[in-house]
Amino acid sequence: MRLAERMARIGTETAFEAVARAGALEATGRDVIHLEIGEPDFDTPPNIRRAGARALESGYTHYGPVIGLPELREAIAADASRRKGFTVSPERVIVTPGAKPIMFYTLLALVEPGDEVIFPDPGFPIYESMTRFVGATPVPIVLREENQFRLDPDELRSLVTPRTRLVIFNSPQNPTGSVLTGGDIEAIARVAVDHDLTVLADEIYSRILYSGEHHSIAALPGLADRTIVLDGFSKTYAMTGWRLGYAIVPENLVLPFSRLIINSVSCTSSHSQMAAVEALTGPQDAVEAMVREFRARRDLIVAGLNAIPGLRCLEPDGAFYVFPNVSETGRNGEQLADALLHEGGVSVLAGTAFGHSSVDHVRISYANSQDKIREALRRIEGVVAGLGVTA
Ligand code: PLP
Repeated sequence: MRLAERMARIGTETAFEAVARAGALEATGRDVIHLEIGEPDFDTPPNIRRAGARALESGYTHYGPVIGLPELREAIAADASRRKGFTVSPERVIVTPGAKPIMFYTLLALVEPGDEVIFPDPGFPIYESMTRFVGATPVPIVLREENQFRLDPDELRSLVTPRTRLVIFNSPQNPTGSVLTGGDIEAIARVAVDHDLTVLADEIYSRILYSGEHHSIAALPGLADRTIVLDGFSKTYAMTGWRLGYAIVPENLVLPFSRLIINSVSCTSSHSQMAAVEALTGPQDAVEAMVREFRARRDLIVAGLNAIPGLRCLEPDGAFYVFPNVSETGRNGEQLADALLHEGGVSVLAGTAFGHSSVDHVRISYANSQDKIREALRRIEGVVAGLGVTA
């Protein structure tokens, strides 16, 4: 069967393939420590699970409104107004099955073939994949280790051309854990205003932050009208399998996004949405405990990696990833990820799963227990020592 030409342009998220590769190795009897997965290892808190179950029992088993249940859109608007620093009206909130479709809808709604889209490299791979899929031109902005993997607004400005339509950025960031400062965000906003650009601000990790405050670009004067804020429940409330995300959009995007939802998924699962109302309005101690635990693991893994000759790792301020430089092992990220899996039974992702620039890095997710992280560090040290690296 002949595939449409556009299918040659679609990319993938290799994390899912890496999980399958590690699983295949486990099926042969090998013990594998999973540090490749981008999801919290915690269960959804019990009060949220119970709310989902109650909703199922009480009949939330039907189609719901296209852009979300009013009670959830109101709860999101109230929560986002408090946390993101600008007044969010429920009319601008759109609920989606996971946050990923928001990338799809943004690009489909706004970008023409030939338009340019600027996105971070390394960054979440779907930004580039979807940009290519809609026929637009991907323009990566390299996040540099020497700049703590923060996007440099001057470099951003230098990449803008008359064809630039959209700027995508993500803070706290996957895969580096970097967090933009308030000053960075203001400088990005100035570029967007000066060149009349639309912004897709991926704030999915905004609650997983270890120091400072979350800054939403949409809180800056005039920016809410040119910004699509992407956020959701997968990471904050350990709800990846419930498929729940949301966008806060400028008023004129509500109808186009509704049309795209009607044409693709119709609506988001009704009982998941009722669970999400409980997530936002119920106690937040499970989130706080999860972030405290992630922080302890970050400290453990950063110190452990930096103690291994050949590895160099920055201390990220958010998300649950580290992005060490492995060049001094004499191997690149792909080679080392391969050796770690096959020789050490530790599954991580090569930096190149996130773009073209990070040849010398691997991404390690610390969404695993401290015991497993300690054991993984021992194994990594063994594999790297076997490569002949000395202090
Ligand atoms: N944005 C980033 C940066 C992510 O890392 C992820 C998930 O890995 C998502 C968005 C999408 O999350 P979901 O579709 O599960 O809500």
